[in-house]
Amino acid sequence: MADSYVKVSLLPSGFLTLPEHFFCADQDDKSVRNTVPSMSFLLHHPRTGSNIVFDLGLRRNLDDYPRNIHPHLRTRQPIHTAPDAGESLKKGGLKPSNIDIVILSHVHYDHVGNPRDFTRATFIVGYGTRNLLEHGMKYHSAAHFEKDLLPPERTIELPIQAKLPNYQPKVAPQAASSPSTITLDGLVPGVSHCWKPLPPFDNAIDLFGDASIFIVDSPGHLVGHLNVFARVSEDRWVYLAGDACHHSRILDGMTDIATWEENGMVVCIHADKELAVDTVAKIRRLRKEGFRGASVEVVLSHDAKWYKEYQKSIFPAKL
Ligand SMILES: [Zn+2]
Repeated sequence: MADSYVKVSLLPSGFLTLPEHFFCADQDDKSVRNTVPSMSFLLHHPRTGSNIVFDLGLRRNLDDYPRNIHPHLRTRQPIHTAPDAGESLKKGGLKPSNIDIVILSHVHYDHVGNPRDFTRATFIVGYGTRNLLEHGMKYHSAAHFEKDLLPPERTIELPIQAKLPNYQPKVAPQAASSPSTITLDGLVPGVSHCWKPLPPFDNAIDLFGDASIFIVDSPGHLVGHLNVFARVSEDRWVYLAGDACHHSRILDGMTDIATWEENGMVVCIHADKELAVDTVAKIRRLRKEGFRGASVEVVLSHDAKWYKEYQKSIFPAKL
């Protein structure tokens, strides 16, 4: 039944410019910079009528970011912020207040947009996100976080599953609730949620209990990094990979994730490079092998080539 599949639409949510040598190990030329999208997606779940947005892209008014992010923003120019996620929804006939659930892949500034526009939505974030927003983390040049980013009464933080050996919060997080119980507070009535293996991934949550939309634990880039995996037709799935990596050459296995030295330390755009490499390998395997006999389209948040090719899927159109 056509009706039983998820409708996934692209929501343009701004562009920023990334120096390629920070991301791709094979790029020695420090002058190579790519203006790339920061994509968000609308997912419509037909049976429940739920509208879900994955990631919110860039904030439309850069002045609304905290001052301590501004020096970093200057290194990412040109930045374009129109349309933002809210405006892209409106162009397709929906309002931010029509959105039931916002899932954030992670809380870097170029993925969090304007959460206040989403006045009714429940926000779902990965383990450790609250601690990170509150206290920050020990290193990372671009990592500035906003304590009041998300409404506490409408935010659900998923319990830990991934091992994060190199994660060093400034303040130790409180013990997570039992990982086997995930309370989504009646978000999806009648469905109980828990992490379960979804090969090749160790942990995924079946959001509606009907194997149509999975939230996938995809560790490495930043604490609590999440992906979303949705069935868009009988023989096709879409895997929204967030910042699992930042260039299709890495996903295609043509180059590695870059590292460089900063103050005598080897650093990487990912908080935990080994975990990021492992996550990318799993995503690559999923794409190559397909899923339950269906093909898998993988979308990286900042893939400029993909954006160009799939403009036809901008909301109200679909993938
Ligand atoms: Zn990021």
